[in-house]
Amino acid sequence: MIAEIISVGTELLLGNILNTNAQHLSKHLADLGIEVHFQTVVGDNPARIMAAVETAYTRADTVIMTGGLGPTKDDITKEMLAEYFHRKLVMDEQALAMLENLLTAAGRQSLKDSLAKQALVPENSLVLYNHHGTAPGIIMEYDGRTCILLPGPPKEMEPMFAEYCMDYLRARSHRVLVSVNIKMLSIEEAPRLAVGEAPVADALDELLDQENPTVATYAKDDGCLIRVTAAAADHDAAMGMIEPVIAEIRHRLGDEYIRYIREELPE
Ligand code: AMP
Ligand code: MG
Repeated sequence: MIAEIISVGTELLLGNILNTNAQHLSKHLADLGIEVHFQTVVGDNPARIMAAVETAYTRADTVIMTGGLGPTKDDITKEMLAEYFHRKLVMDEQALAMLENLLTAAGRQSLKDSLAKQALVPENSLVLYNHHGTAPGIIMEYDGRTCILLPGPPKEMEPMFAEYCMDYLRARSHRVLVSVNIKMLSIEEAPRLAVGEAPVADALDELLDQENPTVATYAKDDGCLIRVTAAAADHDAAMGMIEPVIAEIRHRLGDEYIRYIREELPE
């Protein structure tokens, strides 16, 4: 399973907002063992959204999109994807009832067309009811292609992804990706010692070329980070593959120059 994330929103391209949705999704997809090869950001423009979707499906089977599900004219993600999958938009009664309830609770009487538009869903899709906002999310499947549409606001997108998409994707991924991080001391903490990225990479040498687990180095301000990542059926199997590689790295670099070895990175 290969997923591609498409973040829709001109605000993102203008640098007005940070693309935290892509970060959130990528992090969780990695945990689910789902490879992501590309993240794309595209503005609220029909032709360019369509081009981004067409390109994504040349290299991924699952496309996850955020943004553009709202009530305004520039919110067109759902319309574009319904067109791509040749589905009509139909009114979802439950989504409509939820919108009406929200309006009543807010003391507003009638549902304007622009708001009701949010309860339109492509026929034969799975509707992800939004308990933190107005626009429902959508999952569509066709001919080996899956598309997941999620709202733009992180306060809506994140709980919706947790509630509906984690289990959905886990059931289709059949594997996990596990990473263990080795953090070296900084150059200041270990003066003249070989803890910078270049000497570390030299010492790791052919380990950096291997496939599963992969080993990668990252230069960070507070010291080089080495990441060992394995894909396997479950966490224990992945750790079984990672542990001998960690032992070899410790042997080559020396425990006295390593600050910590752990799965979770500090925020
Ligand atoms: P939209 O559904 O595209 O109209 O987006 C609604 C709001 O969600 C935007 O105004 C942003 O505040 C937020 N938002 C949209 N996309 C993202 C994203 N990729 N990352 C973080 N916040 C976003
Ligand atoms: Mg909008």
